[in-house]
Amino acid sequence: MAEIKKNEEQPKIGVFVCHCGTNIAGSVNIQDVMEYAKTLPNVVVSDEYQYMCSTPGQGKIADAIKEHNLTGIVVAACSPRLHEPTFRNATKAGGLNPFRFEMANIREQNSWVHMHQPEEATEKAKDAVRIAVAKASKLEDLFPKSVPVEKTAMVVGGGVGGMQAALDLADAGIKTYLVEKTPTIGGRMSQLDKTFPTLDCSQCILTPKMVDVFRNENIELLTYTEVEEVQGYIGNFDVTLRKKARGVITPAEAEAKGIVGGGCTGCGDCVAVCPVIKPNDFELGMAPRKAIYVYHPQVVPLIYTVDFDSCVKCGLCVEACGTKKAIDLEMEDELITVKVGTVVLALGYEIFPIEKKFEWGYKNFDNVITSLEFERLICASGPTGGKLIRPSDGEKPKKIAFVLCAGSRDNTGVGKPYCSRFCCMYSLKHAHQIIEKMPGAIPYIFYMDIRSFGKMYEEFYYRIQDEGAKFIRGRVANITEDPESKNLYVHAEDTLLGRPVDLEVDMVVLAAAIQPTAETEKTRRLFGVSCSQDGWLLEAHPKLNPCGTTTAGVYLAGACQGPKDIPDTVAQAEGAASAASIPIHKGEVELEPYFAQCIEDKCAGCGLCVPQCPYSALALVEKDGRTVMQVTEAKCKGCGTCGGFCPGGAIWMQHFATPQIVAQIDAFLLGGEQ
Ligand SMILES: Cc1cc2nc3c(=O)[nH]c(=O)nc-3n(C[C@H](O)[C@H](O)[C@H](O)COP(=O)(O)OP(=O)(O)OC[C@H]3O[C@@H](n4cnc5c(N)ncnc54)[C@H](O)[C@@H]3O)c2cc1C
Ligand code: SF4
Ligand code: SF4
Repeated sequence: MAEIKKNEEQPKIGVFVCHCGTNIAGSVNIQDVMEYAKTLPNVVVSDEYQYMCSTPGQGKIADAIKEHNLTGIVVAACSPRLHEPTFRNATKAGGLNPFRFEMANIREQNSWVHMHQPEEATEKAKDAVRIAVAKASKLEDLFPKSVPVEKTAMVVGGGVGGMQAALDLADAGIKTYLVEKTPTIGGRMSQLDKTFPTLDCSQCILTPKMVDVFRNENIELLTYTEVEEVQGYIGNFDVTLRKKARGVITPAEAEAKGIVGGGCTGCGDCVAVCPVIKPNDFELGMAPRKAIYVYHPQVVPLIYTVDFDSCVKCGLCVEACGTKKAIDLEMEDELITVKVGTVVLALGYEIFPIEKKFEWGYKNFDNVITSLEFERLICASGPTGGKLIRPSDGEKPKKIAFVLCAGSRDNTGVGKPYCSRFCCMYSLKHAHQIIEKMPGAIPYIFYMDIRSFGKMYEEFYYRIQDEGAKFIRGRVANITEDPESKNLYVHAEDTLLGRPVDLEVDMVVLAAAIQPTAETEKTRRLFGVSCSQDGWLLEAHPKLNPCGTTTAGVYLAGACQGPKDIPDTVAQAEGAASAASIPIHKGEVELEPYFAQCIEDKCAGCGLCVPQCPYSALALVEKDGRTVMQVTEAKCKGCGTCGGFCPGGAIWMQHFATPQIVAQIDAFLLGGEQ
């Protein structure tokens, strides 16, 4: 039977009330709360300090433990999310088990929300302290468990963020699986022409990175692969991957099959004979591709892929491939399971379907395009060889309107309420490209404000102004089309001049909002990661832990956490890789001891709790001739679902045990009259 410790000793509690400068003391009467604490059962010392989290503040706790032989500590201060570890350490420094510490949040839950009601705030603080003291009187020693950490990592998503994270992990000596759902790494950045504000050619800075990833002996690149299932916990994730049938094998795979000199060399002979023509996704449907294809000329790995949804299995490509025997039209998906210690999610983003904002005519009017389509059209390797032309007649546009915040910062319910962060900057870049490449053409930028927040970004904005781009401040109301000329009329209000604008242009470029990808929801659920209201993956703490998640061992990189340009994506990826490498280098991780325990004497072995656990932490096992429930402690998140559910009261929730919760409820309802 699992041993459940009971706290039998006479409690001696120390209470410490923090001013937090004027954050708490501005509305709560600290002296009053401190004096009140002295009157509570089991309290032997009560003190206050300006900043309890400071070195002298923590010193007070440690000294009081030694001086008064305390059995429990209560700090009335801010959020445990922020400072619980600090005060646990102070408790430990005083020689007490760190889990004998309890926090009363009298800042976030009190002084901040009752800033103008000092008397009520003070009374509420007393309640919070009384409740915390009641719990602290029942706390027991708890001991974190250590679990070993597998010395491998996984990065999901092979855009610039995922590639950077994988390279950093690999350079730190960690074997890393890089999983990418499409046939090549590179992500959105490979679709871009130039990058602001330096105007580097996007492929020129990206391709060497892609090759580095491919060549790095610590990186196992798994393109055209998706995550199917995730089991386990930090240090020991078992991830099942679906390697989608690509229909083509690499030279290494050919060698393993004994096909001498075989495998795909990227020659493209197969493409010439394939009779199927489909829209090219990479070129956003603006160019064709065959059923056997590469995404773009710089793909990594350079290997063709059969699109089995459109392949008619005529076998012409197999014939053309000849002795290389690279094509297998009967290939099937393969499932593999790998064990990893930590995971970085770098799932990126997709473009908001801007046709939903029907007033701008996208997909209705030929000459309204999105900014990503603009990137492909202006790119030398794009479908028009870098010539910006009007889709309606192939003519060069002379007046081009850029509509910023298209679907971003939009509270109508159709668009997205957030700022997509990089559209202002890439629209400035597009204006520059027009002025540079198309003498005489005029870019008109319709904006709400220009957000040029990064290094050298504001300077770039001035440069584009000087180059002659026209800026009109005001959200575009709607766009209409002349059915004859296919010219467009942009209707807006110039909010600086305070008058309406009706501008005739040849072409409109919509800087469409971005959103999480369709698969983000499924993937985050597999890894147990939370998301914000908008579906972006949620960091553990927006300021203090922006790369971590609430699932231990899972970290975030890049635009899947929220809109981010390339420098911010790469910076966060480096942070995520560093965070993900720490447990691996340590070799073991400590688990918070907030896990459930089964009191086997009371367990009827009914198994009713097993399906209730959202983390699959419970199982029935045979023990001494009986069936009892067993908890996999490393999987348990201490959510308490099972503890609240067990009909026989056989589950003991460490640190949130029934006597502790009952003591808190009594303290609240009975006002200390226990
Ligand atoms: C029109 C336009 C122009 C831009 N211009 C610039 C610029 O000039 N400068 C700049 O700094 N930024 C620019 N950006 C922003 C830039 O695209 C992003 O900052 C960058 O792509 C973010 O990288 P990422 O790795 O986070 O995401 P992505 O590039 O989206 O990569 C994510 C990768 O993850 C893969 N993936 C997703 N889900 C899964 C899954 N479940 N399993 C496996 N793989 C998965 C995807 O296939 C993709 O390869 C521009 C954006 C747009 C739309
Ligand atoms: S599949 Fe065969 S024909 Fe096609 S690119 Fe590869 S080697 Fe060449
Ligand atoms: S506490 Fe929650 S996570 Fe832990 S075993 Fe019970 S239900 Fe599962």
